Amino acid sequence: MAVPRNRHSNARKNSKRAHHAKKEKHVASCSNCGKMHLPHRMCSFCGYYGGRSVLSEAQE
Ligand SMILES: [Zn+2]
Repeated sequence: MAVPRNRHSNARKNSKRAHHAKKEKHVASCSNCGKMHLPHRMCSFCGYYGGRSVLSEAQE
């Protein structure tokens, strides 16, 4: 197994982590109720996805 030969300095460690910042979450607005929901997922408020209710079909 590969083992690191030399320890990285604090500057190298910190510069590596310069790209690790959290990005803002992407959201989409529901076509039925207009509320914000996660893209490619069912709307958690009304259960709509792709222009139709997918929640009521699962219950039937
Ligand atoms: Zn909705």
